[in-house]
Formats: sequence, structure tokens, C-alpha cells
Amino acid sequence: MINFENLKRAEKINSKDREVNRMITIEIKTRKRNEILDITTDIEKFLEGNGVVLIFTPHTTASIILNEAESRLLEDILSFLEKIAPYNSYYKHNEIDDNADAHLKASLLGNSVVLPFENGKLQLGTWQRILFLEFDGPRTRKVFLKVI
Ligand code: ZN
Repeated sequence: MINFENLKRAEKINSKDREVNRMITIEIKTRKRNEILDITTDIEKFLEGNGVVLIFTPHTTASIILNEAESRLLEDILSFLEKIAPYNSYYKHNEIDDNADAHLKASLLGNSVVLPFENGKLQLGTWQRILFLEFDGPRTRKVFLKVI
């Protein structure tokens, strides 16, 4: 099962941070080796007014995508990726590390999304959510938000 209860809330941004348009960092504690977390609500609460926000994770074994957060679909996404890059295959990278499958999964999906927002609300489609994908957990991960 996928656990949605492991987002560590980022510190509240203060008005001075907004004035200088400082980058916001959200910390996520993942609890499994492979896991998908819906981080939409956590991101939206930092948005005010209108603009575009870059949502970026600075890791090589995690991804950010947009898709539906229906729990069975999230399990389907993980099993689909496991078929493409199974953990128990031979990889050269595993001669020095034990996570080549995680790098391959993350490289397929990418590390960022850029989204418009109006009046502090992300302009997402009905079923679209911002999903954080962990492929080499459990770890503490970062997500950066930069409003343009
Ligand atoms: Zn590695």
C-alpha cells in the first residue's frame, strides 16, 4: 500500500521571503523503496496571486510528474516501471552502487513540472495531481519551488 502520511510540512514562508522571491524548499520523508506521494496540496499553500511555479526535485533517483492520484493507478505506475527497469536485473552501475533501476526509472520521468496558477490556485485538469515518485527510499528528499 502507498502511504500518504509522510510529508513533512515546510516552514511557512514569511513576507520577506516573498519580497525577494526566495526559493521554497519542501522536505519529504519517504518510507518505502518505491513510493508515490501526492504533494499538490503542500505546494499550493505556498502560492499567492498569479504566476508560474517551477516544482523541481534535485535527486537522481526520484521524479516529479503530473497524473491522477487514484491509489490503484499509483500501484500500476510503480509495477509498470518495475517491468521496464526491474530491481533484480544486471546493471553496470550496481558494481559501485545498488540503485541502477532507480536511476533508470527516474530518468524516464524527469525531475520537474512547470505550472500556471491564478489567485493562488494551480490551474490543473480535473484529475491532475502533482506526484512525487521515490525509487530508492526510504530517504529524506527535497522539492524546490520557484515562482516566476
Ligand atoms: Zn546510484
